[in-house]
Amino acid sequence: MDARLGDVIDDFCVKCRRLTNHSVVSLMNGAAAKVRCRTCYSDHDYRNEQAPPSKKDLKKAELFNAVLSGVAPPPAAPEEAADDAGPKKAAKKPGKRAEA
Ligand SMILES: [Zn+2]
Repeated sequence: MDARLGDVIDDFCVKCRRLTNHSVVSLMNGAAAKVRCRTCYSDHDYRNEQAPPSKKDLKKAELFNAVLSGVAPPPAAPEEAADDAGPKKAAKKPGKRAEA
């Protein structure tokens, strides 16, 4: 059954931290897209009555992503090689030859 603007449906409100009555304020394909909590009047996407991940989980995911992005830092440019730009002179050392 299609939802209609102004319909009152249950949804999870993060501000109230519980299921509350919500008014449909936006529709998408005949289904509630955005709802407004009838208790605190905050608008949010319709969550299909599902509680969002807890802050703890979000924090964990944040840390996880931070770690992920820090796994492969760009390699530091080696500055020692800067002086070595000139033509290379023969630095060959006479190798010891084991001629008998
Ligand atoms: Zn609320």
